Amino acid sequence: MADSSSPTIPVTARTLLRRYPVRGSFDRDTVYRILDEGFVCHVAFAVDGQPYAIPTGYGRAGDTLYLHGSAASRMMTSLANGINVCVTVTLVDGLVLARSAFNHSMNYRSVVVLGQARLVDDPEEKLVALRALTNHIVPGRWETLRPATTKEIAATTVLALPIEEASAKMRSGPPKDEGEDLEWPVWAGVVPMALHCEAPQPDARVRADVAPFEVAPLIAARHARS
Ligand SMILES: Cc1cc2nc3c(=O)[nH]c(=O)nc-3n(C[C@H](O)[C@H](O)[C@H](O)COP(=O)(O)OP(=O)(O)OC[C@H]3O[C@@H](n4cnc5c(N)ncnc54)[C@H](O)[C@@H]3O)c2cc1C
Repeated sequence: MADSSSPTIPVTARTLLRRYPVRGSFDRDTVYRILDEGFVCHVAFAVDGQPYAIPTGYGRAGDTLYLHGSAASRMMTSLANGINVCVTVTLVDGLVLARSAFNHSMNYRSVVVLGQARLVDDPEEKLVALRALTNHIVPGRWETLRPATTKEIAATTVLALPIEEASAKMRSGPPKDEGEDLEWPVWAGVVPMALHCEAPQPDARVRADVAPFEVAPLIAARHARS
């Protein structure tokens, strides 16, 4: 697992933001906060000239992003060969409704990570990865679970992507309408959006002596770093 002490991720020709570079950030903590708040990443890679962008879960431990899945999946087998990969995470914070279609936008925070993944063979690193993947969904969940068996660990393919070439981009604030557009008689502004959980639905077989699942700390933990 890489362990970077640099607070800034070096900009490369590939991560240089071209449009609205002012919205970009290469601050490691900013990148990690967005990664930690998201649930889903899109993993993009090309096989025989055909691009695929596959949605999946992920976890972060230090400066490494972990993906896991079935050894039979095309995503896992392709990435395990060390091909180039692009992983994106997107948080939509609001709908920006302008007075013209041209100025409509979204408020967002997003991250792009470029690189090559490696197959994780070491059982100890596999455990670190599986813990990160599990606790990414619900912080502290791993510590409450029936321990993973050797068979389960062996059956799970884990990939590690170092967060060495990455960028964040963010938009916030009102629509960018200017001039005479401001006189146009239509509502304009921002409709904030946020992910939320509904009431938990317990499995009918949960032991009677187990406390109900508390959803509030889950949401609080997710936003604590944002
Ligand atoms: C929810 C959402 C809606 C968007 N809607 C639009 C839209 O309608 N039209 C539009 O043109 N753009 C939109 N964007 C912005 C879009 O993601 C790109 O930033 C934009 O296309 C500019 O790309 P570029 O040509 O400057 O950079 P590119 O040359 O495409 O990218 C260069 C590098 O910049 C970095 N980068 C680019 N975009 C992002 C990003 N979003 N997050 C993190 N790193 C990034 C990457 O490292 C990339 O390799 C949206 C973004 C989000 C998250």
